[in-house]
This record gives sequence, C-alpha cells and structure tokens, in this order.
Amino acid sequence: MELKSINGIKIDPKIFTFKFGCNCKGECCHYGVYTDLKEYQKIMSLKDEIIPLMDYTQSKKTDDWFEEPQDDEDFESGTAVGTEIINGKCTFLDKDGLCVLQRLANEHNVHKWQYKPIYCVLFPLTVYENTLTIDDEHIDRLETCNKMNIQTTIFEHCQEELKYFFGEEGFRELLKLKEEILSTNGVLK
Ligand code: SF4
Ligand code: SF4
Repeated sequence: MELKSINGIKIDPKIFTFKFGCNCKGECCHYGVYTDLKEYQKIMSLKDEIIPLMDYTQSKKTDDWFEEPQDDEDFESGTAVGTEIINGKCTFLDKDGLCVLQRLANEHNVHKWQYKPIYCVLFPLTVYENTLTIDDEHIDRLETCNKMNIQTTIFEHCQEELKYFFGEEGFRELLKLKEEILSTNGVLK
C-alpha cells in the first residue's frame, strides 16, 4: 500500500494505533542524539550561553560535546553530528534530567524546542527514510520507556510535537488522514 504524504513526508499508519505512555525521567536522553550539521552549528553558536547553565555532571569544554561529523543521507544537510555521552547521559542533559538547550530557549523566551535537535522533539516518533514512523528500535532498548499500561496512542501523545513539526495546516491534514485510515480499517464506527 502506498503511504500518504504530508509536507513531503510519508506517514506510517501505525502511528494512529500504537499505544504509548511516557512516565520516566528521560532515559531516552541517555544515549545522546544525532543532530543535523545545521543543528550542531546552531548549538555551537550558543555555546557561551549554554555553558553557564551546565552543572557538575556535564562538561563545559565544548570539544567534549560532539563526535566527529559523518556522512548520513538521512539528514537534511547530508551530515550527522552525534552528541557525546558524559556520565551516562547526553552531554546536554543536566543532573535534574532537563535539557539545557530547552532551558536556554525558555530563558530566551523563544519556542521551547527552538534549539533542540528535531530528533529529540519527535521521539518516540522519528523520520526514517522520509517516513514519519515509530522509533521502536530506540523504545525497545530502553528499560523504562513505554512501560505503563495505557490506552493513549502515540499520535495522541505527540500532538504538540506533530503540530510543531508539520505546522497547523499540516497537522489538520494529519487529523484527516487519521480519520480516513481508521475508518477504512474499521477502527472508527
Ligand atoms: S524514555 Fe520514553 S518514557 Fe522516558 S521520558 Fe523518554 S519518551 Fe518518555
Ligand atoms: S539534546 Fe537535549 S533532548 Fe536531545 S538527547 Fe540531549 S539532552 Fe536529550
């Protein structure tokens, strides 16, 4: 079956039925993240403001923050740059389980996700091979992720993130697609 697209991104229909609950202290940030080269450059341009927000569990030396860039066609610029793991967590995660990139955005009164890699915003969803889908590979390797007995779907759980990613118009299209798919599958009466 050919997948429908919104804003040029194909949509995996599983996102409308997969059950997901989030109730842990950010284990998803313990493995670091691959950023696009442009996201990396944006973060580095803010280094002087990020450093004062860091605590004793983090490194204030910018050379410690990222791995070597590598070619990766899954990223818009064709280059991915991974964040390093320091003290068992992403270099940008503080001792309280908060992302300093989000804390800085809050201090700047800009959108809370403006400085965050889009991968972090979308998780537990992800865009893989130009398709919005469930990041089951990462979910499955985490000990505490999605361990609640819950009836919420991953789509319902991620509505704010999806609005941010697709914009209001794109999100309305996504809602229509959901109705279409669920009624075709007999999930909606
Ligand atoms: S690891 Fe899963 S349950 Fe925990 S904060 Fe991240 S998304 Fe939520
Ligand atoms: S950049 Fe922030 S949200 Fe992303 S993995 Fe690191 S600490 Fe978590």
